[in-house]
Amino acid sequence: MRGRIKKALSGFYYVDTGEEVVTCRARGRFRKEGVSPLVGDRVEITVSGTEGMVDAIEPRRNVFSRPAVANIDQLVIVASNAIPQTDPYLIDRMTAIAALKGCEVLICINKSDLDHADELCAIYEKAGLLLTSAETGEGIAELRERISGKLSAFTGNSGVGKSSLLNALDPRFSVQVGEVSQALGRGRHTTRHVELYTLSGGAEIIDTPGFSSFDTDELGLALKERLPETFLDFAPYLDGCRFVGCSHTKEKGCAVLEAVRAGKLSASRHASYLRLYNELKDLREWSSK
Ligand code: GDP
Ligand code: ZN
Repeated sequence: MRGRIKKALSGFYYVDTGEEVVTCRARGRFRKEGVSPLVGDRVEITVSGTEGMVDAIEPRRNVFSRPAVANIDQLVIVASNAIPQTDPYLIDRMTAIAALKGCEVLICINKSDLDHADELCAIYEKAGLLLTSAETGEGIAELRERISGKLSAFTGNSGVGKSSLLNALDPRFSVQVGEVSQALGRGRHTTRHVELYTLSGGAEIIDTPGFSSFDTDELGLALKERLPETFLDFAPYLDGCRFVGCSHTKEKGCAVLEAVRAGKLSASRHASYLRLYNELKDLREWSSK
């Protein structure tokens, strides 16, 4: 039987087959091979009685290490120009990671009732951003549409309104907006595990704290090697540079820099590229795991 792992806890995997959720263990062979089933995995299971066994894991679209999940279709990057303001660098860093992992990106500029975020909109309009307000409901119907049929992870700096948006999408989700974060200091998620949650509209989301800030895990050598191609808007220019192996940071005859000067590429995007480039440039084989 096929199914999808919705939750992983203490060696048990909760596999949704479409008809029921079967509590499974994983075959010992996975451990020997150094593979662990992850939330989001599509798996093959055999069921005997009330328990099941995970026999095989289907090929993955991608894997994230913190939180440990597989097969994310889309990162929903929530940003805001009201307090707390989102630094475009944060958005660009996440879109680069998304590109590296083969996920789609949806940039969602929230708190539109407080601030229209004109600068952020100017930078990301071509990326197909969405303006939302969890307060007035602006953009919520479109957000629901754009996450339907996909597994999405909501990410963004704390306080931009991720929980509020999820609540607006599905009141059953009923996350305790803001309050608990204050009461406990670190937020409602402290005792929680990663879980795949199906919203009432049919969209799936990863319910976890970890995506609010990506760890350096995801910013490893792989990103260093492929950085230019993870800036998707740079693509039309990458072949036009004078030198093979152009780093697009300061070279003469760099088509990317030329496009920035000509206003065809956003200067803010290129500034983020430079910052990431510098952050990653000293990374060596031995320093990453
Ligand atoms: P999270 O940390 O990203 O999950 O952010 P929360 O959902 O906890 O929201 C942080 C604060 O912003 C709360 O006080 C919310 O009521 C408020 N908030 C969230 N979205 C909006 C919005 O669209 N408009 C306004 N005015 N306030 C919002
Ligand atoms: Zn170049």
